[in-house]
Amino acid sequence: MELSSPVAELKGVGKEVAKKLAGLGVETVGGLIGNFPRRYDDYSNVLPVRGLRPGNVTIEVKVGQVAGRYVRRGLHITDAIASDSTGSVRLVWFNQPYRSTAIKQGQLYFVAGEYGLRRGRFSILNPSMELASSFPINTARIIPIYREAKGLKSYTVRKLVREALRELKDLKEYLPAWLLADKNLMAYPQAVKQIHFPSSPEALAQARARLGFEEVFVLTLAALINKQENLAERGVSIPYNEVLAKEFVAKLPFKLTDAQRKAAWLIYQDMNKNQPMNRLLEGDVGSGKTVVAAMSALMAIEQGFQVALMAPTEILARQHADTLLSLLSRVGYGEQVRLLVGSLSPDQKKTAHAMIANGDIRLMVGTHALIAEKVDMRRLGLIIIDEQHRFGVEQRKKLQAKAGHMPHVLHMTATPIPRSLALTLYGELDISILDEMPPGRHKIKTEIVSPHARADLYAKIDEELAAGWQMFVVCPLITDSETSGGLSAEEVYGRLSGRDFKHRRVGLLHGRLKSQDKDEVMQKFINHEYDILVSTTVIEVGVDVPNASIMLIEGAERFGLAQIHQLRGRVGRGAHQSYCYLIPSSVQAPTPRLRALVTTADGFKLAELDLDIRGPGAIYGTLQHGALDLRIAKLSDTKLIAGARSAAQTFLERENLKKYPILQDRVKSLRAVTNLN
Ligand code: ADP
Ligand code: MG
Repeated sequence: MELSSPVAELKGVGKEVAKKLAGLGVETVGGLIGNFPRRYDDYSNVLPVRGLRPGNVTIEVKVGQVAGRYVRRGLHITDAIASDSTGSVRLVWFNQPYRSTAIKQGQLYFVAGEYGLRRGRFSILNPSMELASSFPINTARIIPIYREAKGLKSYTVRKLVREALRELKDLKEYLPAWLLADKNLMAYPQAVKQIHFPSSPEALAQARARLGFEEVFVLTLAALINKQENLAERGVSIPYNEVLAKEFVAKLPFKLTDAQRKAAWLIYQDMNKNQPMNRLLEGDVGSGKTVVAAMSALMAIEQGFQVALMAPTEILARQHADTLLSLLSRVGYGEQVRLLVGSLSPDQKKTAHAMIANGDIRLMVGTHALIAEKVDMRRLGLIIIDEQHRFGVEQRKKLQAKAGHMPHVLHMTATPIPRSLALTLYGELDISILDEMPPGRHKIKTEIVSPHARADLYAKIDEELAAGWQMFVVCPLITDSETSGGLSAEEVYGRLSGRDFKHRRVGLLHGRLKSQDKDEVMQKFINHEYDILVSTTVIEVGVDVPNASIMLIEGAERFGLAQIHQLRGRVGRGAHQSYCYLIPSSVQAPTPRLRALVTTADGFKLAELDLDIRGPGAIYGTLQHGALDLRIAKLSDTKLIAGARSAAQTFLERENLKKYPILQDRVKSLRAVTNLN
């Protein structure tokens, strides 16, 4: 059996189990052993019955006097007595009627569970048991607990993992020996066995150290190789024109923040080189990335180069085109800005294409449709990608292929990626962070509101709406389901439009609408044809509706902090005081985490919190980032990350990746994920 063998080849995996495993993302034997335990229960303490103390215990016993009965409808109790040479103890199972026939008299068992006093008698409640052996998996050891899917219990996974580890032939070390020695790492085959069935807490710690290291090491290696390749590309030098830059800045209606100034300066230096720029401009919502983009574009345009700015939606592209037009007009370059989107008429397109070909249009703003157009891009000097994660690797590649050379690339994102994470994941990028907000913004007032207090809240909100302001309502899901608790966008829309805000105009927006319909609903909200927009997180991306002053989030505890912060960034863009109301899905729902949103407006801090509490998936809820699926390494573990980074560097200096085929494979699968080009 090999890592790539389908799980169905394992004994005990039929169609049903295979389907359930697939639900956990496990399809191959390799996937199964890569499905590391979520946590462990320590039952390694095998004790004589006589010495039992309350707590988690394992005993080695024979089991007799087994009897099962229904005490009332729906409650079955199995009673048994377990004995070793030192004494006896009572075992009790609820609703496991098969126990009485499954237990073989006279056999030696390991029985594990919580020993304690119940109704005046000491007993072990609902214990696990298995025949005593030299390699128990459910008892008498540190027991792995796996993520459970519906109908797929931890012990089933345990049995299968054990089987897989027994059958697997190709568990091989794939890191160089010098690296293992240098970092004092446990060998791979051993680490995999220990992570599932640890022989001691120390061995488990070593296994985790090894597997965590390798996660970050491989990720970093992929990023470094990407960077090497980028450096080998030839680009076009765009000289820095200081006079023009100063003129642009002087004519702005505001003063640049230091962070904007610094980012623009670094970009100018990058573009001046023959090597293509590959920079990530990160800045919280409202930090002013667009001006920096405009400054970068200006330099390219002035030198006769073309610039393509791509946004994830047509509405965003339109807003960008407007903003850039007004900014560049100040220095006389407004006429060269053109919106290029799918909805233009064939005639409009034809004219635009001709103007691009003869150089009259130099800044093209559009969606990814931009790269599908038959546009002449030989003079393309700079690509600016807003909210880069919304573009696939392939789309980026195509755009670059069109230029015939590697243009400078500026990626912009409002996702607050903590620096530690950015360095690991996007190691091939240079990073600029706008960590400073333009002055004079109103802080968005954020409040956690009990679901019981809805009526009062709605009354308060209605005053704002009556005064002409607008509200976003964001729901955790689209359609009603067992777990939605009445909080799906469709249901909330129904309630608000049919009852609570019957007298207001309410719109509904979600990801299942066609993209044209989405744009239409959004445009209507922008035009103030709706007072309220009920939506899912599809509104996350930076659409500007300065007239929206309220963000209400239903089922708030189901969102990541960084995600809510992004959502809240949709309001507070005008000069008016804005509000963000967080309503938990029930009064029992835990809210302490949400309090961080009330007290801090710093997206990076919130992202760090998310990272600690929920892992990177919380920040990248919208991404299909295989790479971020770090199972063991904590990205907040700066020592681990620094160590893995320097090791990856050393590896590249000393070794040829081709000599390590397994490592090469792993790196390859990650390169597609981390490569932003
Ligand atoms: P984001 O980083 O979210 O894309 P924008 O570029 O849309 O932010 O900027 C948000 C708002 O802040 C815009 O209205 C912009 O004109 C304004 N702005 C940008 N930079 C400054 C500054 N230095 N001082 C004052 N206002 C600024
Ligand atoms: Mg923006």
